[in-house]
Amino acid sequence: MKRISLVLALGLLAPLGAEAQNFDTIQVRATRVSEGVWMLTGAGGNIGVSAGENGVFLVDDQYAPLTPKIQAALATVSPQAPRFVLNTHWHGDHTGGNENLGKAGALIVAQDNVRRRMSVEQFNEVFNRRTPPSPPAALPVVTFSETVTFYLNGDTIHVFHVPPAHTDGDALVHFRRANVIHMGDTFFNGNYPFVDVSSGGSLEGVIGAADRVLALANPDTKIIPGHGPLADRRALQAYRDMLVQVRDRVRRLIAERKTLEQSVAAKPLADLDATWGRGFINSDRMVTFAYQSLSRR
Ligand SMILES: [Zn+2]
Repeated sequence: MKRISLVLALGLLAPLGAEAQNFDTIQVRATRVSEGVWMLTGAGGNIGVSAGENGVFLVDDQYAPLTPKIQAALATVSPQAPRFVLNTHWHGDHTGGNENLGKAGALIVAQDNVRRRMSVEQFNEVFNRRTPPSPPAALPVVTFSETVTFYLNGDTIHVFHVPPAHTDGDALVHFRRANVIHMGDTFFNGNYPFVDVSSGGSLEGVIGAADRVLALANPDTKIIPGHGPLADRRALQAYRDMLVQVRDRVRRLIAERKTLEQSVAAKPLADLDATWGRGFINSDRMVTFAYQSLSRR
């Protein structure tokens, strides 16, 4: 139990990059999710896997130092090296393995804005953090604007972009036969989400992404969040309902012409914090993201 919480903490402490993390103690584990689909956990974003006769398709690849552990975990489900890596967005805890896996033969695929942001320095205002451009070998080789579909391992893997949500380059991945949906960081299961307003993210968009998946999911659908444990439709519904409350309360403060500082000080989420505010995004940060997102025009 202690180890699990440490892994989760590490995974959530550095949502943008790999700065000063020690990966030696991290274990990467594969969990079977559905027919032909697995989830890998280690540090950073949850990895989705389709494996079968046509090869290995990965959703995200965590941090570069973890690549050997990720490869070892994959070896337990397939003898083949990854053929495709789909990045759900540009953050370093989801794309850090691109260079290693690309050199090992994988084709990296992402929405247009992922390659655009990885190509140049990024600056996050809330965390006052710069992320340097990625090396050319880490950049997606194939990009798409709205959707791309993979026909692999007997499944139809439909990848679709959503309007700006966690960032402006989010892609969600629907494994139709397996009835699994990977939501990237549009879903932090059990926690307030990181809304990367500096990367074009929007609270309304995060709610929209949840609504989109709720419309696709049935009670048997397995939902892989960017962070947090494997989820289902009911967990996503609770997250979506929480976000609507956050939006409505912060919108009211903006309508009352409260400043950001006054809105944070008003503690509008106090009754929600015990449930949702224990992760990397605490109550004050959630109010800040909501305020910035909703007051931007
Ligand atoms: Zn992210």
